[in-house]
Amino acid sequence: MLQADQFYKQGNLAKVKEIQSAVKPEFPPSEPLVANDNPENLSGAGQRHWNNAQRMIDRNLRDSTFIYLNFLVVGNKEKNIAPTDPDFIPGYFALVDAYEKTAEQEIKKGHEKKAKELNVQALGVVESLASRFPERADLLDKQIEMLLKNKKYIEASIAANQFALNYPDNPKSAEYKRDARKYEDQYIRELRIEITALSVIGTALGNSPDYGSLMVLLQGEKNAGKVFAESYKKNGSVVENERINNYVSSIGKKLAKFAGREDFEYEFVALQDDNPGAFALPGGKIFITTGMLGLIDSEAELAGILGHEISHSVLSHSFRKIANSSIASMIQSFPIINNFPVSNLLMAEASRDYEKQADILGTRLLSSSGYSADGVYNVMFKLQQIEGKSQGIQNWFRSHPVATDRVKYIGEFIDLNGYNRYAYEGVQPYREALNRK
Ligand SMILES: [Zn+2]
Repeated sequence: MLQADQFYKQGNLAKVKEIQSAVKPEFPPSEPLVANDNPENLSGAGQRHWNNAQRMIDRNLRDSTFIYLNFLVVGNKEKNIAPTDPDFIPGYFALVDAYEKTAEQEIKKGHEKKAKELNVQALGVVESLASRFPERADLLDKQIEMLLKNKKYIEASIAANQFALNYPDNPKSAEYKRDARKYEDQYIRELRIEITALSVIGTALGNSPDYGSLMVLLQGEKNAGKVFAESYKKNGSVVENERINNYVSSIGKKLAKFAGREDFEYEFVALQDDNPGAFALPGGKIFITTGMLGLIDSEAELAGILGHEISHSVLSHSFRKIANSSIASMIQSFPIINNFPVSNLLMAEASRDYEKQADILGTRLLSSSGYSADGVYNVMFKLQQIEGKSQGIQNWFRSHPVATDRVKYIGEFIDLNGYNRYAYEGVQPYREALNRK
């Protein structure tokens, strides 16, 4: 690897690839997803289901429409039947349309709850489709439309922002970036209403829970991040070695340049803690422990972890998580409504999604900065190897579930986007900064 870095500096990329590919294990082969927009390209069975569905839609026979469209694009989960034509976009759109129209009918009947369930199902279909074809603005538009309809403003902001960051050259990206801010403002307005309502309930119950962190959140991501980071630095032990701090900060800032969010004041802090960990606070405040630095072997890997955490911050994940857990703990502090359905399950679900988004955007930042694109992948791989073997590692795994499929999709993402795994590793500068032999 040291030798490969020398060749990289000389611009001899062929030699870099030759050396590194002897050391790095090959990724398992991945198959690109292909979207089909044309009914003429459907399979025989697919065309029959599509034609039948069209007839049922014309006759307004909703139940039968669902049956045919499910055969076509979703399959049958209970019976373990795969769809006939899984990537047929008009089929998905028809299915979403059927869900939405049924929901409207339920609302007319006064069945609000049922309507809400149907809209959530429709959203699920759109979200899985948009995540399979992240480069398609038409799918994103539908996803955002439905997120807003379901009052998921911060999720809409994340989706719009993610597209703008991942596809900076797309002509619609500037608009998505502006929209992302708009949805974020809307989220903060809703949050304000929610907090006010909760504080009214709290007062009525003679309860005075701690509104501190929620009030801080209302100042927006940038300012909330500043307040949280300052209190964290005061309570935690910041590494006193200037060389290490400057180094971590310089690598982080290099990546942050590619992450958008010029409004953030990025800060990268090394914490004295033997447990491998890294986390992001809102507004670009990133922390990494000495335990994690000890596990890392190169600048590319450090950049990978920092890129992952920067992504959590720029995609508003940290902001959203803090808001969620503050609201949840506030609700739990009210004795009478203790049984409120604060869904841990939902939060775990969001976490998995967020991890994937951060892995993917982090890998993109890494690659844009000229590092070997598998920096995130390599650290995940190392963590996967020691998962469960060490008590000390618990910290990281509590906030970052390392599943085998995570290593798999990062590999596929690098593969399908043609990112270069054989670029700069920066082994020597990393060793020097950490004073390793
Ligand atoms: Zn993460």
